[in-house]
Amino acid sequence: MSENNCIFCRIIAGEIPSKKAYEDELAFAFHDINPQAPTHVLIVPKKHIASLNEASKDDQALLGHLTLVASKLADQLGVVAGGYRTVINTGAGAGQSVWHIHVHLLGGRVMGWPPG
Ligand code: AMP
Repeated sequence: MSENNCIFCRIIAGEIPSKKAYEDELAFAFHDINPQAPTHVLIVPKKHIASLNEASKDDQALLGHLTLVASKLADQLGVVAGGYRTVINTGAGAGQSVWHIHVHLLGGRVMGWPPG
């Protein structure tokens, strides 16, 4: 289930290049093109879901899977000891700019709170 005009669907399909960090049957992860931390990876479902608002009960396991992929990647990328942050921006007001749900994994620097 992909959408032709969705940039992340096109990255998953290999139509747009990316620096891949992980892939399995449900998820794809790649390094953010405009990193906000020394480690900044996006974990996305292969299924096109525009945002958390469009996710349904059917997506419950998939959303959990994305979170566990993030923790696996945090370990592989060496950011567990220093701490890392996972973020899902939902809606333009929260900073969402790509309408294909994604988990940001940020690490490698001290994080401030509250986020801007
Ligand atoms: P958000 O603003 O939460 O929707 O996050 C979208 C993220 O996608 C931003 O951090 C962008 O830098 C990132 N991004 C947009 N286009 C690409 C791309 N072609 N490859 C990698 N990351 C991208």
